[in-house]
Amino acid sequence: MKRIASFAIFLFAFALNDAHALDVFACEPEWGSLVHELAGDKVDVDVGTTALQDVHVIEAKPSLIAKVRRADLVVCTGAELEVGWLPQLIRQAGNPKVQSGPGYFMASDQITTLEKPTALDRSMGDIHPAGNPHFQMDPYRILAIAKALDARLAELDPKNAAAYQQNLATFTTKWNEAIKRWEAKAAPLKGRKVVVHHWSWIYLDTWLGMEQIGALEPKPGLPPTSAHLASLVDLTKSSNTLAIIRAAYQDPKPGDWLSEHTGVPAVTLPFTVGGDEQSKDLFGLFDSTIDKLVAVAK
Ligand SMILES: [Zn+2]
Repeated sequence: MKRIASFAIFLFAFALNDAHALDVFACEPEWGSLVHELAGDKVDVDVGTTALQDVHVIEAKPSLIAKVRRADLVVCTGAELEVGWLPQLIRQAGNPKVQSGPGYFMASDQITTLEKPTALDRSMGDIHPAGNPHFQMDPYRILAIAKALDARLAELDPKNAAAYQQNLATFTTKWNEAIKRWEAKAAPLKGRKVVVHHWSWIYLDTWLGMEQIGALEPKPGLPPTSAHLASLVDLTKSSNTLAIIRAAYQDPKPGDWLSEHTGVPAVTLPFTVGGDEQSKDLFGLFDSTIDKLVAVAK
């Protein structure tokens, strides 16, 4: 009996020892995926949202608060994308580890944002006050964020620092190869014009040399109106427009309406990991995005 008990204790201790080193809460699927690339099974990742949700407006549900409560590290976009819910999650979780310091990682702190409004310019609306937060569609910014995030993982879990370093090296090599592949494949997109649903694509456009000529939302965050959609018909028709682009979570109706009235294809892009079948990880996200745009460029 005593031997069985001590064996049970041994098993329990082994299980504890084998457990992951860190609990991570990622606000969006792209950061969950990036943590997975860098940390593998060293950490346990909870992702707070899915590709089918609008991350500007998430409800601070008790299930999310519980995940933040047990986290050693939160990894989020920042740039005020989650201003409507993340501060509330952190406050209600009462977990000092993620309130500030190394346990609080905002991707926006690692890069510069585009479309940063000046103090007096409200023309871009109020939804992107710290610049455009949708930078997950720029593979170069992803790489810069990966480096900073890897250093943060090593700081919080120094025992596994060598593993994180190795994972970053592997990821960087694979990612740089993928960037070359994506850029070669996306060559036909250069100089093409797009109409977007929300201001979600400035980083992708800038990277691939595409140009946003209009948006279905009259201002970022304001829903499309029929008068505004009607005002886009002539411009969309006359500009040899490549596509009307929306993210997987957005209502297809306004883009479909404009497509029917202009003959320009409406394309749904994944926007983040999990946004379509192919976007199982960050590599799949960019593969799918470029495949879908190149398909309409032909
Ligand atoms: Zn936005």
